[in-house]
Amino acid sequence: MKLGFIGLGNMGGPMAANLLKAGYDVTVYDVNEKSVENLTKQGAKAAFNPKGVAEGVDVILLSLPNPAIVTQVVTGINGVLEGIKKGSVILDLSTVTPNTIIKLVPQVEAKGAKILDAPVSGGVPGAIAGKLTIMVGGDQETFEKCQPILEAIGKNIYYLGEVGSGLTVKLINQFLFAANLAALVEAFSLAAKVGIDAEKMVEILLKSSGSSYALNTRHEKIANNNFEPGFQIELMLKDLSLVSAMAHENDIPLQIGDSAAQLYRLAKRRGYGKKDVAGILLAMEEVLNIKFPRKENE
Ligand code: NAD
Repeated sequence: MKLGFIGLGNMGGPMAANLLKAGYDVTVYDVNEKSVENLTKQGAKAAFNPKGVAEGVDVILLSLPNPAIVTQVVTGINGVLEGIKKGSVILDLSTVTPNTIIKLVPQVEAKGAKILDAPVSGGVPGAIAGKLTIMVGGDQETFEKCQPILEAIGKNIYYLGEVGSGLTVKLINQFLFAANLAALVEAFSLAAKVGIDAEKMVEILLKSSGSSYALNTRHEKIANNNFEPGFQIELMLKDLSLVSAMAHENDIPLQIGDSAAQLYRLAKRRGYGKKDVAGILLAMEEVLNIKFPRKENE
């Protein structure tokens, strides 16, 4: 089975590399030439555009920033649909809304192809280790056909049913991660103001009921003053607006999510949009004129 991979960023780059390591023939495309070069050095072939990727492969994987870009890459000029073969599959690993993918189904199926939503969780370390959690929605037979590919990039793979259902779970997960991290940053701000042994506090929290994925994956980054992504604040803000829209459509209050979003928005406005999500601490520190104790290397 020949594969295509479009979007070779923090997540897509290592995922494409793992597919090469698993022995797949992979053709890649990204608007960023450096990312393409990084993959061709590892054995990938390069195409000039998404159409070129789709022409030569059986499964096209996407790992792109947002709904507008996914839609444009699939349906735009020189897009995937211009090159896709009958029987091919689009496997979208990006975090977008369920509706983004549901709306593409008729156009994809008119070409005799299929589309699955397969958003991922586990961050850059999970992508590098090939241990992502993957939540899949769409036709079951198509999912089964793609399972070996998903196993080359993920460890916990779940089939959820109809198209869009993987994304529903993913957006709910993003709401929880965003809220947990926002609470963590408020807690760190309070600790900074009171003045406490930060290292010892983190050690205790990691072994206590206040622990979380946010604390586990971000405490070292914060201690080392390393706010490089990881997962960018801009992308989290996008996810929060998607989950907020989903809550709105379904008439469900999401007060904590909407409130957490203000912190990510503040951080973006202060110029930290491309920083890791842990960078919301930087904005909080500026506003409150405090500093959570950590290494001074930036
Ligand atoms: P990223 O910004 O590092 O990567 C996106 C890539 O898409 C970049 O290389 C960019 O050049 C490329 N791109 C943008 N427009 C393009 C176009 N028109 N054609 C081709 N390539 C284009 O983002 P990321 O962190 O790798 O995230 C990718 C997706 O995965 C997002 O939807 C994100 O929400 C989701 N995600 C990210 C993480 C994480 O921890 N970083 C975890 C889970 C899911």
